[in-house]
This record gives sequence, structure tokens and C-alpha cells, in this order.
Amino acid sequence: MEIFIGVESTAHTFGVGVVDSSGRVLANVKDSYTSADGGMIPDKVALHHKEVAERIREEAFSVAGIAWGDVSFIAYSAGPGLDPALWAGYNIVKVWSEKEGKKIVGVNHCCAHLSIGKVWNKLEDACYLYVSGVNTQVIVETPPTVAGREGKYLIIGETLDIGLGNMLDKFGRVLGLGFPAGAAMEKLALQGKYVELPYAVKGMDVSFSGILTKVEQMYKSGKISKEDACFSVQETAFAMCTEVVERAMAHTGKKELLLVGGVGANMRFCSMLQTMCEERGAKFFKVPMDLAGDQGAMIAWEGFLRRDSYGDVSIKPHWRTDEV
Ligand code: AMP
Ligand code: MG
Repeated sequence: MEIFIGVESTAHTFGVGVVDSSGRVLANVKDSYTSADGGMIPDKVALHHKEVAERIREEAFSVAGIAWGDVSFIAYSAGPGLDPALWAGYNIVKVWSEKEGKKIVGVNHCCAHLSIGKVWNKLEDACYLYVSGVNTQVIVETPPTVAGREGKYLIIGETLDIGLGNMLDKFGRVLGLGFPAGAAMEKLALQGKYVELPYAVKGMDVSFSGILTKVEQMYKSGKISKEDACFSVQETAFAMCTEVVERAMAHTGKKELLLVGGVGANMRFCSMLQTMCEERGAKFFKVPMDLAGDQGAMIAWEGFLRRDSYGDVSIKPHWRTDEV
């Protein structure tokens, strides 16, 4: 049995995961940059990653009960992500690889979210909804009728501006909730009622900036409470995503939906998607909390799957899911 590690550093999280070739997660340790009022400042995030890296790796090795000698290669998140955060991770990985004589495998962070969700749920051909800080994408495997793209993912719907999590975090900052704000907004939303906000679905794509502008105006002029604002932002944005995913499933005939990414932790979002799936005779899947957000285990597993096609690719800040 091969053992390998994965290093995540695309955004606010630095993580090291240890996985074996059966897909078993032996350790998954991470530390995320947070801020009380400043949002995500790229240089501070990079500094955070440099500071915690060695400690996180040691903890991961100790949880998994392994030493460098057991590691067959190091996978790392090459992108997409924030330049300074990616460089921090890549530089750490280069040092480890040169010191310990290990091959490195650069992987796509988005594909890693999908792969860990697939192996965990034993899925073959699902429709995927990937909702994180930066990304909002509806993805399927390319159908065999599309020549020349075999084995690649197809993005059939995505955000036209900011990611869903980013929108929540930006509004959370206006509310003084700190970064990241999604979970705190979910709590506030439990006490809220619905106020209409711009519902922006354009074909298979969605747009969140209009919601943000409108709710920010309403909140700052005292026209909406924190609770109602959080509830209405959630209802509007989640319904938009649910509509697009439902259309994707209808067009492609997919009977399984897998939700991945940090916003997938939201219970209200899950229940909307669950209801939509039930109504169309499909099955809804998600991943356990510890594998839903950014972490190293998914990077390790994606590295295992792609170890023969990728190596040291430096960083790729704008690497899209459909380019892998
Ligand atoms: P990721 O980039 O995949 O780690 O996801 C991070 C994003 O998930 C951030 O924008 C968070 O605000 C968001 N998030 C985390 N928990 C929740 C939640 N319970 N509800 C909504 N968004 C959340
Ligand atoms: Mg992510």
C-alpha cells in the first residue's frame, strides 16, 4: 500500500493530509487564517501558511503514525487560488521535496474537491455543484459525444462575477461578523424572514454581485435587519444555484448530485438541494464536514489519481477545472 501526502494552500487554509492508495485518510490536519475585521489579506495569508507549515506537517505525520521514509510523493495545490498563498505552499513543498528526495505532483484544487467527494461516496457519474469562497461551478464529466475532451470535466454553469462564499464573506464583513462569515450568517438567518433581493440567473450561469450591492444598501440605510438580510441572501443565492443545478441534471439526465466546497456546510442549502433531488427522483450526496472545506487529504488523493500525468507545474493561479 502506497502512502502519500497532500498540501493545501490556495486560500485561507494551510493543510497537510496523509492518504493511502485505497483512498483511506490517515490524517488531515489544517490551520486556517481568520480575521476579526479585515477580510482575507493575501500577504497575511501567505505569512500564516509559512508560520504554521512545519507544525501542521508534524501533526499530520504524528496522527498518521508515519515518517518521511513512508511517503512516496508530495501532492500540492497548484491552483486556482491567491498568488501569495499558492507561492507560500509551493515553496514549502519544494523545500520538503528537495530535503527528503520526494517527487512532487501539482494538482487542481477544484478537481481535488470532486475526487475526494467521488471516492467517499463511491460515485461514478454525478452532477457536481462546487461552492467555495472563490468558486461556484456546476460540473459534469464530459459526455462521450463531445470528441477530444475524454476524461475531462465540463463546467456547464458558473458564477459570472464573485464566488458564493466570497459574496457571503463580503456581506458578513459589512455586518461585522469577521472572516469567514458563512457559518455565522447561517445562524443569524435562522431568525430571519424573506425580503426580496435581485435574483440573477443568466442561462446556466449565476451572478451574485447584484445581491451584495442591494442588501448592503438596504442594511446600511436601516431598511433590513441583520437576520432578515442573512435569511434573504441565503434564500436568494441558494435558490439560484438550485435552479441551475436542476436544469443541468434535467439536460444531462444525471441521477446523482454531489455538493462540495465550504458553502456546502450550510444546512439550509443542503435541504434545498435535497428537496430538489427528491422531487426529480435523484439522489443527493455530500461529504463529511472535515472533507468538505479546503484540506490536504483531497489534494493527496487527487495527486494519486494524476501522479503519472502531472509533476512540478509551479503554480497556476487561474487553472480551471475544465483544463485538467
Ligand atoms: P472553502 O474555500 O471551500 O474552504 O470554503 C470557504 C467558504 O465557505 C467561505 O466563504 C465560508 O464563508 C463558507 N462557509 C463555511 N461554512 C459555511 C456555512 N455554514 N454556510 C455558508 N457558507 C459557509
Ligand atoms: Mg476549496
